[in-house]
Amino acid sequence: MITPSASERIRELRWSEGIICPRCKNDDITRQGKDESQPERQRYFCKKCRRKFDDLTLSVFSGHHQPLKIWVSCLHLMSLDISNSQIAQELDLNISDVQKMTRQLRAAVCSKQPDVVLTDKYAIYSKMKEWGYGYKSVCHGAGEYVRDEDGDGFHEVHVNTMVGFWSLLRSWLRPHRGISQEMLPLYLGFLECLHNIRKRGKAALSGLLEVLFR
Ligand SMILES: [Zn+2]
Repeated sequence: MITPSASERIRELRWSEGIICPRCKNDDITRQGKDESQPERQRYFCKKCRRKFDDLTLSVFSGHHQPLKIWVSCLHLMSLDISNSQIAQELDLNISDVQKMTRQLRAAVCSKQPDVVLTDKYAIYSKMKEWGYGYKSVCHGAGEYVRDEDGDGFHEVHVNTMVGFWSLLRSWLRPHRGISQEMLPLYLGFLECLHNIRKRGKAALSGLLEVLFR
C-alpha cells in the first residue's frame, strides 16, 4: 500500500515551514480530525477566514473526486511510462478521467521546472530569450564545452547529456502512440523532470512528490 507513506511525505513537504491556510495564508489554525473516507488526510480549520482545509486542499491532488491513493498510484504509473489506457485498466478508471488526471499532473510537474535552457550556439536557439526563457549557451566552435558561471567549481553550463536524452525520449514516447502537438510539451516536461531527479521506481515517485509539494 503506497498511501500512508505518501500522505506523510506530502504533509512533511507541504507544511515544511508550518501549516498555513492555503486560501488566506494565515498560520492561526487548529487541527480538526481526519477525513472520514480517507483517514490519512488531516483536516484543519483556519481561524481567520473560518474555512476548513486539509493536506490536499488546492493542491495538484485535489479535484476530479479521486482519493489520494488513486492520484499517487497514477503518478507512480506515469513515472514508469505507462500509457493512459493502461493506467485506466490498472486502476479501474474511466479513460477520460485518467486523461484529465495525467494532464493535470504533467502540467503541475512542468510548472515547477526551472526555465533555464542550456544549448550550444546553433542559430535556431537565438530567440530563446525573446521567447521568455532563461537561456545560457556554450560555444563548441570556440572550444568551449563546459562553463562554471558562478565560480563554485561545478561546471553547470553544458549540453553533454542531451544526446542521450533525445534517444531516451524516442523510446519514452513510444508507448503513448501518437501524442498531439498540443500535448507534446507536457510529455517532454514530465520526462525532463524525471531525468533531472535521476531516480527510478518508487524513488522516482518520492522525487516527483518532492517536486510537486516542496
Ligand atoms: Zn484562511
